[in-house]
Amino acid sequence: MNKKNIIIIMIDGGRFDRAQNSNIFKKLKSKSIFFSNSITYGPHTIAAMHAVFSGSYGSRTGTNSYWSTFKFKKDKFKTLTEYLKMKNYDTHADVINQLVVPKQGFDNYVVHDELNDDLLKNHKTLLEKMNQRNSNNNFFLYLHYSKIHTGIMNEVLKVYDNYSDDFFSNKEKNELRYDTLFEAAESYLDNILTKIYELELNKNSIILVMSDHGISIGEKLGERAYGAYCYDYTLRNFAYFLIPDSNPLEIKQQIRTIDYMPTILDLLNIPLDEFYSNLDGISLLPLIEGKSLSEPYAFSETGNPLKDKAPPKEPNTKSIRTSNWKLIFNEYNNTKELYNLQLDPNENNNLIGTGEKIEELLWIKLQNIINTRD
Ligand SMILES: [Zn+2]
Repeated sequence: MNKKNIIIIMIDGGRFDRAQNSNIFKKLKSKSIFFSNSITYGPHTIAAMHAVFSGSYGSRTGTNSYWSTFKFKKDKFKTLTEYLKMKNYDTHADVINQLVVPKQGFDNYVVHDELNDDLLKNHKTLLEKMNQRNSNNNFFLYLHYSKIHTGIMNEVLKVYDNYSDDFFSNKEKNELRYDTLFEAAESYLDNILTKIYELELNKNSIILVMSDHGISIGEKLGERAYGAYCYDYTLRNFAYFLIPDSNPLEIKQQIRTIDYMPTILDLLNIPLDEFYSNLDGISLLPLIEGKSLSEPYAFSETGNPLKDKAPPKEPNTKSIRTSNWKLIFNEYNNTKELYNLQLDPNENNNLIGTGEKIEELLWIKLQNIINTRD
């Protein structure tokens, strides 16, 4: 083994604010490179995770909606797994369904039963198996923790719609429901990390603990869970990199989930393949090494189902964000929103058309990204 193993632990639907206040995540933070202002490309799993694995926005890769897993442009975008496979990594994914993560490059792509499986038990066994392989190869293990999603599916998605008064007038109940699901995720993570330390995998592996998007607890009428809007309670995710021999650090500047893949490749000294399209993401290694890096814009998009039961085939709600500002474009009715995220983190005070100079700049940047096609 001449490189580090890669382990990704993905807490599906993990809210950034809950992680920030959690003792278990604080313990993790004390050992890791913690990105406390990370922005997802898509506030739902399929678009979010294809962007993570390709280091690129779904507007270019083809996977920009619930419906577009098979539109992913494999010949133009090489996934993290494929890069690792080329370096002889043994690759294994344990996932919630066939659609969420690109399959290419995985030796084993196992779909668990999100309702009935004991994920903690199964994932601990997987860690042991990967550790005991009779092989000189490194490994890449992707573990998908799906139980927050399962709880929201059963207790919110199947019970309410995006405009249910019962849901939006019971914020305390929503918080309690989410917090119970999050506590179970904390317990899972705590046990998985304990197993990782027991096996001493932390010494020869880069471990990324991340979420793909947050979940509503009733902040905005019209979104009972995720995937309808581009507000921060779903766009902000968390990312903790445990890297052997590195000092703990909190990086507060805005980064994007599309930056993880080039960062991991950079940490492993794996060069990008020039026969494939350029990435949208950039390596965050300079930040990890304490150097400066100019803050890139973060683009996100989703398909708001509006009054329909299912989301549209193509995104209709798009946003561009800096640490300080966000512009949202609601393409379905041609309206825009502008928020000062420092003064108004809950995005309640729409400043569009009030003469803020940043509005035009963000609009131009957003148009540029939307119009870039491969
Ligand atoms: Zn998800």
